[in-house]
Amino acid sequence: MPALAIVGRPNVGKSTLFNRLAGKPLAIVDDRPGITRDRREARGRLGDLDLRLIDTAGYEDAATGIEARMRAQTERALQDADVCIFLIDGREGVTALDQRFADLLRKAGRPVILAVNKCEGARGEAGLGDAWSVGLGEPVPISAAHGEGMSDLFQRLIVEL
Ligand code: GDP
Ligand code: MG
Repeated sequence: MPALAIVGRPNVGKSTLFNRLAGKPLAIVDDRPGITRDRREARGRLGDLDLRLIDTAGYEDAATGIEARMRAQTERALQDADVCIFLIDGREGVTALDQRFADLLRKAGRPVILAVNKCEGARGEAGLGDAWSVGLGEPVPISAAHGEGMSDLFQRLIVEL
């Protein structure tokens, strides 16, 4: 079963996507960044693919700085995952932290799908255009909360696996 890691800075919607793919609310969704204590793994499904989901958010409550947590998250994700979804927030656009995160992922040279979350109702359009600047290819607009874009995400996933 392929392992899929969901990575990205706090509050972009990683736990929301994890729960959607798991089909049940296993990870805590919170609008306060960085304080969730999530389960890290679950069985999930996208299209007709069974997946081992890895939510890297468990590192967000470490007592270390955000850059160190990002590196820890990324290293763990790349060790265990066949493919990563790198999530950004379409309503906030690409932040400096997103860019540094993207640098790590690009250097690692492993399959990464760039997904722009919170795009329901065309509200993420600005962030979607912005997302090309992280250099990880064509961004996939999704709404983890509303289940939009899941079939596009699936199409990209089967290309990478
Ligand atoms: P994480 O820190 O990356 O795990 O993010 P969470 O999954 O905890 O979500 C952070 C916040 O974004 C919560 O308030 C969620 O309800 C919200 N959120 C997640 N996905 C979406 C989405 O698709 N659209 C909108 N509008 N909000 C979302
Ligand atoms: Mg989370």
